Amino acid sequence: MLSTMQDVPLLISRILTHGSVIHGTSQVITWTGEGEPERRSYAEIGARTAQLAHALREDLGVDGDERVATLMWNNSEHVEAYFAIPSMGAVLHTLNLRLPPEQLAWIVNHAADRVIIANGSLLPLLAPLLPHLKPVEHVVVAGPGDRSLLAGASVQVHEYEDLIAGKPTTYDWPELDERTAAAMCYTSGTTGDPKGVVYSHRSIYLHSMQINMAQSMGLTDEDLSLVVVPQFHVNAWGVPHATFMTGVNMLMPDRFLQPGPLAEMIETQKPTHAAAVPTIWQGLLAELNARPRDVSSLTQVTIGGSACPPALMQAFDKLGMRVCHAWGMTETSPLGTIARPPAHVEAGSDVEFAYRLTQGRFPASVEARLTGPGGERLPWDGESAGELEVRGPWIAGAYYGGQGAEPTRPDDKFSEDGWLKTGDVGTISPDGFLTLTDRAKDVIKSGGEWISSVELENALMAHPDVAEAAVVAVPDEKWGERPLATVVLKEGATTEFAALRSFLADEGGIAKWQLPERWTIIESVPKTSVGKFDKKVLRRQYAEGALDVTQI
Ligand code: ADP
Repeated sequence: MLSTMQDVPLLISRILTHGSVIHGTSQVITWTGEGEPERRSYAEIGARTAQLAHALREDLGVDGDERVATLMWNNSEHVEAYFAIPSMGAVLHTLNLRLPPEQLAWIVNHAADRVIIANGSLLPLLAPLLPHLKPVEHVVVAGPGDRSLLAGASVQVHEYEDLIAGKPTTYDWPELDERTAAAMCYTSGTTGDPKGVVYSHRSIYLHSMQINMAQSMGLTDEDLSLVVVPQFHVNAWGVPHATFMTGVNMLMPDRFLQPGPLAEMIETQKPTHAAAVPTIWQGLLAELNARPRDVSSLTQVTIGGSACPPALMQAFDKLGMRVCHAWGMTETSPLGTIARPPAHVEAGSDVEFAYRLTQGRFPASVEARLTGPGGERLPWDGESAGELEVRGPWIAGAYYGGQGAEPTRPDDKFSEDGWLKTGDVGTISPDGFLTLTDRAKDVIKSGGEWISSVELENALMAHPDVAEAAVVAVPDEKWGERPLATVVLKEGATTEFAALRSFLADEGGIAKWQLPERWTIIESVPKTSVGKFDKKVLRRQYAEGALDVTQI
């Protein structure tokens, strides 16, 4: 028997219409670096979104599922692009502006982007790339920046504001199939070549509802969310879509992502929530220690993208900024788990802290299982460690194959029965909390046993003299692999390796056989395009003999 319910498609245009009408007075505030930030209401954004869609269709001829890329910071024009492009039926392709230029060119060509909307401040990056971007016919420039950099380019150049000026402020959004492509994002390639993940209207809609649940981010129209995680990094973790459902206000840092301006934004605009990867928060913490500010408005901070060091969580707690740890991937939209402790746990207790440090619980729509090295299913006993596999309505089932080509399903990424193999290794407790011990590719395989690089890093970063630490596997004749500890000391600190090693054993509770014997001081840990530790680079530097390693 079929249900008697209406079959209304879940579309981005619905989220837009809802946000701009029901929450018309909510605002996107964009930081401009000087003077007052720019404020735009959701109602204005709704109108400008319609204008942008008209311009793309009528002036630039965007039709069907053509890809329109953005090379932009987080700002209100980027929010307009977020809604206009998928709502009209085209596909939004957010470009990661921190990728190496060759990779960026490869991605644009692979996705066959015909139009790029770019911030003026990013033209120094885009202009030299243009001759290599074969499918691109139009560049639309928004915000300040030197337009003369595009002189002589073989594309048509448009001014964003001129293009949308005078266009109708409503658009008859098509009723699309909810399963069609809405947006695409390439993985940042921390462990391999970038791969294109294509989100549907349905997946984004459902994911947004999850983000808004009280046990996820649970924000309301009384909140102001500082969206530091870039809009090109998995749709800013789904925040801009989710906010248009609930009227949460957004504070967008544009290109001002340094700790100083972030601290100023928090002090003057008083956001209640913020989201970013741990490295951003480490920087902010150092800034706040050096120059204390009033950050009392900011009571909820979502941290994900890599493991949140316990020392960072503690330091933020002391400042009144409660960290909520979450795990996800480009392939998971990204919300996969979020660490809100269960109700029975006493607030402020060690047990609660331990729960908060896990990657968290799976929402109803994300099914999870652990697979052992021989393909066996492992129990949720909090002890058996295996590769995490997930499935659900906002989890990728394949990668974009390129125009006209079939999607790809590499064996190392998808199981035979269609689950996503995350490449993350960990345990799941009987009450469903995930604890990741490492990425499969970063785990140190020493004499048949596994050493978690993340555990060593967290223990090292708890030392008062350590600013940052990354641990990688290096080849070892006797054990196969052993950990190499690369350490960034705080300014003026002179702690010796032997002291750090003892600290790991005594304070960090690290087993003796896991303690690194190879150590090196580095100036900073190399970072990927989305601010994660780039361990590929460290491994390469070690192999090339570029690191000054001490053996103790
Ligand atoms: P890339 O794989 O190129 O870094 P993603 O942003 O998709 O790009 O990264 C997803 C990966 O980031 C996950 O598979 C996991 O290894 C790591 N990750 C994300 N969140 C967390 C977290 N809270 N704790 C530990 N690792 C995390």
